Amino acid sequence: VGCLYIVPTPIGNLADITERAITVLRSCDAIAAEDTRHSGQLMQHLGIRATLFALHEHNERQRAEQVIERLQRGESIALISDAGTPLISDPGYVLVQQCRQAGIKVIALPGACAFVTALSGAGLPTDRFSFEGFLPAKPQQRRKRLEQLVSDTRTLVFYESPHRITDTLADLMTTVGSERPLVLARELTKQFETYLTGTVAEVQQQVLSDSNQQRGEMVLILGGAPEVEHDDVNPAALRTLNLLRNELP
Ligand code: SAM
Repeated sequence: VGCLYIVPTPIGNLADITERAITVLRSCDAIAAEDTRHSGQLMQHLGIRATLFALHEHNERQRAEQVIERLQRGESIALISDAGTPLISDPGYVLVQQCRQAGIKVIALPGACAFVTALSGAGLPTDRFSFEGFLPAKPQQRRKRLEQLVSDTRTLVFYESPHRITDTLADLMTTVGSERPLVLARELTKQFETYLTGTVAEVQQQVLSDSNQQRGEMVLILGGAPEVEHDDVNPAALRTLNLLRNELP
């Protein structure tokens, strides 16, 4: 039986790929990529001649079966995504889960990941955090999700699209309020890498006053809610209160 390798690729700066990743990509029988044309360019840049085939969110289930057959025949296959670490807001979960169930060896390589890079550079607490991926695109659902997170004391990390950044900042103002610490990490590892820091209100101000800050790839990092001592409050009552709070307009 072969092996499935999960291989991170750069998130902007092409030098951010490990020697081990290159060795694996060079030696495997085929590479499953989200977008074969996009990844073909990276392979060309790295001087890797490999057979690429498409595995994306729309065909993952069906492709997983074919990949497992090939792995069972003894082939080694690498999974990559358009950028960064596969499975992190990217396809691959179904394939890895099915490989594990089929008893196929899975080896994940460490490497570039936008949210880890942003978190380690932001200057907000990193001892406890929650990676929230993308917020829902629909305004009502997005606000609801934010409401559910309002009292979370952990640092919260979001991926965000440039099309929605101003809406999301407005929603943060009305849900968590203007005073929480916020960092907008943009274009990481690239020429125009920028960290905007301050309170929610201050970051919103910077983004609204400079349309360049509304462009490119971005990670939002929100400081957690202040820790409150609830020693004298019954935990069940507090849970009910929070549930009610989420239901209230
Ligand atoms: N798998 C990727 C990873 O490991 O980070 C994430 C894939 S997700 C589809 C793409 C999102 O990641 C972007 O919309 C953006 O929020 C974030 N992202 C990717 N590259 C980035 C970069 N260079 N700077 C800031 N954010 C980035």
